[in-house]
Amino acid sequence: METRSDSRRWFIDFQCPRCAAAVSLEETERIFTCAWCRVKLCLGSPGPLQCCILPPSATGEDVLFAPYWRLKAMVFTCTPGAIRAGAVDMSHIALHAETLPWSLGIRPQLARLHFLDPGIQGTFLAPSLTIGESVTGYETNMKQLGVSPWADAVLHRAWIGEQTSLLYYPLMRRGGQIVDALQDRIVESVATWEARATAERQPDFRVRFYAATCPDCGRDLDGDRDTLVLTCRNCDRAWKRGSEGLEEMPVYVIPDKTREDRVGLPFWRIRIGVEGFALSTFGDFARFCNLPRAITPAMEEAPFFFWVPAFKVNAELYLMLIRRITLFQWRGDFEQRLGGLDCHPVTLPAEEGAESLKTAMADLVADKRTFMPKLGDLEIAMKEALLVYLPFRARGGELIQPQIPLGIQRKALQFGLNI
Ligand SMILES: [Zn+2]
Ligand SMILES: [Zn+2]
Repeated sequence: METRSDSRRWFIDFQCPRCAAAVSLEETERIFTCAWCRVKLCLGSPGPLQCCILPPSATGEDVLFAPYWRLKAMVFTCTPGAIRAGAVDMSHIALHAETLPWSLGIRPQLARLHFLDPGIQGTFLAPSLTIGESVTGYETNMKQLGVSPWADAVLHRAWIGEQTSLLYYPLMRRGGQIVDALQDRIVESVATWEARATAERQPDFRVRFYAATCPDCGRDLDGDRDTLVLTCRNCDRAWKRGSEGLEEMPVYVIPDKTREDRVGLPFWRIRIGVEGFALSTFGDFARFCNLPRAITPAMEEAPFFFWVPAFKVNAELYLMLIRRITLFQWRGDFEQRLGGLDCHPVTLPAEEGAESLKTAMADLVADKRTFMPKLGDLEIAMKEALLVYLPFRARGGELIQPQIPLGIQRKALQFGLNI
């Protein structure tokens, strides 16, 4: 599946709320350490982050800002014959305006963004398309262009780990024309524009910052970029990053007594209920996949869990990890201490991870012929989710889990940090 990218790295410029130094952050990052005063902060916003691109010149009353949705996600497409996995990095206009481009495309000028704040002058056009409608619009456009897998017959499609933001793009009124403020391209005449009476709205968005320090002992927490879970080395506890602040989060670790350096990869251990399918014991699962082993009474007793990566990674590797760790099906005890574990960032909430389960089932099922046509109507309910770190031993460029056994290239995990 093609990977479509509007631009690899976009940056947000802002002032450090502590020392007022000019600083910047990658668009997808939500944890910030100031290079000047060393303060470590989390960004909080009640909904998607809202940013704008400032026009190079022009005064407030001449500037119009048009909203675009930005979205990055892993996408799984199940077709009758195959599962296609890929990543999407897209922008889509958030209002009905045929004279404006539907996508921002690749433009180097887009690299510098600013948080919205009430001090920015200009007219803000109100978004009239939801993110869901924009995603549908994107799918339709890709279909019309004949791009695979968008144009293929689809049984099921899942967008996983969508990171969305709203980006306001600058236009200007100049000499009776509406002009693209960055590209100096005429969009249409002011008269035609105004005849359409596009709704305006002064956004009330303001990003909030709160300290990334342990609420218990006051130390800086470990975790950066966009991790959802930060940890305190001192108290050996984990904290979940919310829109307003930190919340304590129970985490579990699969024991490994080695003295080697260990990296903990986070997984959601998920118990599900599926309408019309028995998948509550490991025996059920063994039949579902037609595992080449005899089903024992112990297997019929053992509860079954899906194990889903709690981090973004190449979509094919993501699916492979679900397969391998779910088959491994750890049944021993957990530790509740992180110890010296080097924790890989948690970048997917349990609900997002669970959205991959239809695809995972399509991947694992033995009887694809019967199962696949039902895929669209399948109802999966997540009944319970636990965050469990699975320790891997760090050996050069590779992470090794000897009990499974499984090896993962560290480079492959790095890739996921940019989705
Ligand atoms: Zn600072
Ligand atoms: Zn602490």
